[in-house]
Amino acid sequence: MIILANLIDGHAAPSRTGRYLDVFEPATGQPFARCPASGPTDVDAAVQAASRAAPGWAARSAEDRAAILMRLADLIESRTQSFAEAESQDSGKPVALALRLDIPRAVANLRFFASAITQWQGESHAMASNAINYTLRQPIGVVGCISPWNLPLYLFTWKIAPALAAGNAVVAKPSEVTPYTAWLLGTLTMEAGFPPGVLNIVHGAGPDVGAAIVAHPAIKAVSFTGSTRTGAAIATAAAPVFKKVSLELGGKNPAVVFDDFDFSDEAMATIVRSGFANQGEICLCGSRLLVQRSIYERFREQYVARVRALRVGDPNHADTDVGALVSEPHFNKVRHAIDRARDEGGHLLCGGERVIVDGRCADGWFIEPTVIEGLANDCATNQEEIFGPVVTLIPFDDEADALRIANGTPYGLAASVWTRDISRAHRVAAALEFGIVWVNCWMLRDLRTPFGGVKQSGIGREGGTEALRFFTEAKNICIDYRN
Ligand code: NAD
Repeated sequence: MIILANLIDGHAAPSRTGRYLDVFEPATGQPFARCPASGPTDVDAAVQAASRAAPGWAARSAEDRAAILMRLADLIESRTQSFAEAESQDSGKPVALALRLDIPRAVANLRFFASAITQWQGESHAMASNAINYTLRQPIGVVGCISPWNLPLYLFTWKIAPALAAGNAVVAKPSEVTPYTAWLLGTLTMEAGFPPGVLNIVHGAGPDVGAAIVAHPAIKAVSFTGSTRTGAAIATAAAPVFKKVSLELGGKNPAVVFDDFDFSDEAMATIVRSGFANQGEICLCGSRLLVQRSIYERFREQYVARVRALRVGDPNHADTDVGALVSEPHFNKVRHAIDRARDEGGHLLCGGERVIVDGRCADGWFIEPTVIEGLANDCATNQEEIFGPVVTLIPFDDEADALRIANGTPYGLAASVWTRDISRAHRVAAALEFGIVWVNCWMLRDLRTPFGGVKQSGIGREGGTEALRFFTEAKNICIDYRN
């Protein structure tokens, strides 16, 4: 059993509560680690350490801070294989996916924001009356970063990298469901050269640790990624004290396929990936697949054949496409959603059942990739986030119908549009009520671009200078140089 620890003031520390949570390997259903079940006193110790460290860290040059982030990136990269295995063991995702996506992207996040902070330009505004304004972007001080379980290290670094690069001290909380790689990262921070207290990592349950981070008066801003329900609780707690929050929440994303879709191998493979990558546990996954009626049957046939061909199995096997769902409660939630779809009158074109994988994974939480048709857009299946390997097929008649269905949810995170008509692509992209729209691609990410959603998918944007702006306060200084 691996025993994880908090990182507070540069030291590995058990929780002051003395309690631990079991951490499960989803592929086997067995616990393999224990993480501290921390509480508000641990958060307070982390905040004290961060408050002591913050002024010194802010006073360092951007180049100094960048060099330390770069060293951390190098240390992780040199251990890519072991980080990928840890991520897979903790989350159930295929090792191959973690090797291709999660760990390289975590490294890229650290490097991207290390570079970005050295390139960030200031603003000045001259006035005709012989005065000049210049705007300082100063670090906030101590900030909180709370991340979810689906892309554990990837999303953890997506938050801490800009926060640290901008000169803040951080109190970070990874998901208690997948704490392993954040802990591993923490063990490298002293070797990377972080001064004690600049990055603190407190493990534990959301209501104990996350809520204490949000409530702590010395934490001036909170960047959160997770469910809409938790996001609402955070917004409610932060509002009376005007705490700055960035909320990246859930989605019910459409992929919209028009009748000029080219049916190429690459396009079909990407659409399948957009539904089932990481077991469908990516906030950007397209869970509602809207297909123009004139090509619906042809598309359905090819699509379902490809989904049936996805290999569900041991995440350690190189040819596994779909691994285990992250936890038993989540596995039960997804199965319940499939049962509900049946009750709502949905017709299962494939999947829908638990998969029993032979050998060491016999008790793992595997579900067949599932495709459902015959449901109206306003039913619960098409309105509520399932966050698993479940996609619904919905036919549409024309552009207006497609937009009505695509926009007809409380969420607005990401959409993809598949067409070869460039005018239609621009028109539809502009009319979609989503923060991110991909045309003829999916999850093609440039880290400089704004990332985030509208409606119940959140408030604020991450990525590039948006993240650096969030983690700084703008101060305008106006000088009248006539006097
Ligand atoms: P969650 O909201 O249950 O938990 C997210 C984090 O918040 C965890 O670290 C958790 O411990 C913590 N938390 C829980 N209760 C809290 C509270 N009261 N106060 C403060 N923190 C608290 O979400 P999850 O189940 O871990 O993640 C899945 C969700 O995340 C899905 O809805 C998914 O769409 C969303 N997500 C969104 C994005 C995005 O960029 N928009 C990215 C990934 C995941």
